[in-house]
Amino acid sequence: MGVRPSFVWRSVLYGRELLEKGLKWKVGDGRKTRVWIDKWVYDPELGMRAPWIRNATFDVNLLVSDLIDVSTRTWDRDVLQDLFVPADVEFIMANPPSIMREDSYLWKYNRSGNLTVKSAYWLARDRKIKAEHPTVLSLPSTNPVKEKIWLVPTAPKIRTFLWKSLSDAIPVADLIIKRGMKIDERCQLCGLSGESILHALFECDPARQAWALADIPQPEWIVWFIWKSRNDFLFNGIQWEPKEIIHKARQEAGDWFLAQLVEEEMLNKKETIATKEKRKWKPPKQGWLICNVAFELDKGSKTLGVAWVVRDFRGVVLTHSRRAFSNIGSLEEARFSTLLWAAESMSSLHYSKITFAGDFKEIFLALQKPHRWPALDYHVRELKRILNGVEEYQLRYVSKEENRGAALIAQSVTRQRRLRSYVATSHPNWLFELFVNESRGL
Ligand SMILES: [Zn+2]
Repeated sequence: MGVRPSFVWRSVLYGRELLEKGLKWKVGDGRKTRVWIDKWVYDPELGMRAPWIRNATFDVNLLVSDLIDVSTRTWDRDVLQDLFVPADVEFIMANPPSIMREDSYLWKYNRSGNLTVKSAYWLARDRKIKAEHPTVLSLPSTNPVKEKIWLVPTAPKIRTFLWKSLSDAIPVADLIIKRGMKIDERCQLCGLSGESILHALFECDPARQAWALADIPQPEWIVWFIWKSRNDFLFNGIQWEPKEIIHKARQEAGDWFLAQLVEEEMLNKKETIATKEKRKWKPPKQGWLICNVAFELDKGSKTLGVAWVVRDFRGVVLTHSRRAFSNIGSLEEARFSTLLWAAESMSSLHYSKITFAGDFKEIFLALQKPHRWPALDYHVRELKRILNGVEEYQLRYVSKEENRGAALIAQSVTRQRRLRSYVATSHPNWLFELFVNESRGL
């Protein structure tokens, strides 16, 4: 073979940096480009970058397609001027979108602009790269590269995996045999003899096909999912389509970045409530379920984000759901719509013995003692009609701290514009840690 795995890994890490330099994002219809996250503005001095943030509040999920005036088929100057600093407006105006095609990368270093990425290590072979990074090819040891791994902005499990791969510490056939164990030396996926790390992650047919499809400069996530797919085949007999590998890599990378945003926000909040006594999520009694219900109303757009999360007494999330309502004018209306929706959901899912928990003090009191709350007469009657479909239920008023999981999901509607409604089993991936911690009483 003649190419050492460490050579490949150096290339993966530098490749990431180089891809960013060599690739130019070309805006097409703008629907795959996130305004504040992707590097889509061509700055003659700095190269491709995200636009500078001008306003204190901005919509993280805004797409570049929202900046295009469909009737004139080009940038909407007024919208640009509202959102960006004047210099950025000019840079953007200088590169009109090609609205008949999808957004895509152009490779700056060849004439057609088509990039043929078979694998990340191809990059390191390129002469230009030698010129820019003479050290890449002459480094005698992998140590400096290994240190660099800890700086890659990615999930810890992936950093660990990259580090192990560079240290020849992942169980591929070659290495197992080297350690004196007798196993089939062939690659179990393609039958080729001698499975090395390089082979498993870059050269084996499924890996090659996945790399050919990869259009995002996030090689570490792709490497990780190629490895997972190999193991899934070896141990479970499940074969992944190459496009499935790419899809999962893209999705999990996206979720991970979103989770970082949430974590940052939670850290900020923690500081302000540190002095107060911290309340925690509490499980229901055995045999019962708890349905945490939360909402957030964006008064400007009158958008209401709502969510519920159903957990058992061990804290295991059974299902959760999210929905967006439009045209909700007041907090009172928001509370009522949210609770009605949650009650309807529990009834249609045939859950019984369920404790509704949330920031609904008045409505809960009114449901318990209707004669004291004539003003909420209508609300009580509507809710009771729905709750008739739930065999046994309780109501529990809880503070915000006790209701965090559902609250964060509701906020993803109003703050990140995740407007798609759904019901799903278990918890959302990006809140994995929060729910696990809460189930353990942390
Ligand atoms: Zn193979």
